[in-house]
Amino acid sequence: MDFLRPETWLEALARKAERPEAVPIAGGTDVMVEINFDRRRPAALLDLTRIPELARWERDEHIRIGANVTYTRVISELGTDLPGLAMASRTVGSPQIRNRGTIAGNLGAASPAGDAHPILLASGASVEVESIRGTRLIPAAEFYLGVKRHALAPDELIRAVHVPVHRGPQQFSKIGTRNAMVIAVCSFALALDVTARRVGTGVGSAAPTPRRALAAEDFAAQALPWDTRDPIPQGVAARFGELVSQAASPIDDVRGSAAYRRHALAVLARRNLAWAWKEYQCTSS
Ligand SMILES: Cc1cc2nc3c(=O)[nH]c(=O)nc-3n(C[C@H](O)[C@H](O)[C@H](O)COP(=O)(O)OP(=O)(O)OC[C@H]3O[C@@H](n4cnc5c(N)ncnc54)[C@H](O)[C@@H]3O)c2cc1C
Repeated sequence: MDFLRPETWLEALARKAERPEAVPIAGGTDVMVEINFDRRRPAALLDLTRIPELARWERDEHIRIGANVTYTRVISELGTDLPGLAMASRTVGSPQIRNRGTIAGNLGAASPAGDAHPILLASGASVEVESIRGTRLIPAAEFYLGVKRHALAPDELIRAVHVPVHRGPQQFSKIGTRNAMVIAVCSFALALDVTARRVGTGVGSAAPTPRRALAAEDFAAQALPWDTRDPIPQGVAARFGELVSQAASPIDDVRGSAAYRRHALAVLARRNLAWAWKEYQCTSS
């Protein structure tokens, strides 16, 4: 196995163009597991950890998170601007995994159960990808193509993830068979944009790809009393939960049945909406 170790981003793009089969490695918390269990034997690894700019983040109207920024840093440095992503990051693995693992690695693995995906969808994030042919921004909703399949071309690398600074309360909830070190049975993220009066959703581990619950988003955006900040009208949270559950297409597997996932998603969605709305009411001026 060749081990390619570029020192700069341009060199990394050149290596990937020459060797499209080379597997990028950032934290290695997915890649090394696959290699250790002999599920994957790549001809070459492309180590991105020496490229300083990938370990930086920048703030504009969105946060541009470099591909090598770890979950630990998202939690400690970006929790105020990106509360939902920080919540999701806190549920990933253990401190050791969060010290190595990255959002870009979660995207590269494109597991339907990856914990970063629901909030990236809910908050309208985009993935900045680049090759020697140029750069493009892929909206999160277009990034996931199937189970562990994503929209990157063979010569492309993820350079950064652009996540809008929160414009209202955000929530993330995950169901697992224990509290930590667990793959989601299902998960749900919510992002309220109180300026645009939009509701963003992301459903995880309940379909071949993470996905938004579009009908639920439209319904809640119409039904919530944004102006008065009154309590959520009777029946609205329950209907929102039903619509989220209907957006999923879960399977029965070792972690849970399809019926359980549908039920749990309705409960998560209802609760997340109630918590987020309470926060909105409390920040009332
Ligand atoms: C014990 C354990 C517990 C875990 N718990 C969780 C959990 O709770 N929730 C969860 O979501 N995940 C979990 N994971 C999975 C893993 O930690 C995450 O998916 C993490 O985000 C991967 O990031 P990484 O930087 O380590 O990726 P890597 O392993 O380095 O790479 C992962 C994939 O992304 C690709 N990749 C990496 N960087 C780039 C780039 N810049 N451009 C293009 N492709 C790239 C790689 O080629 C590979 O296909 C766990 C893993 C372990 C071992």
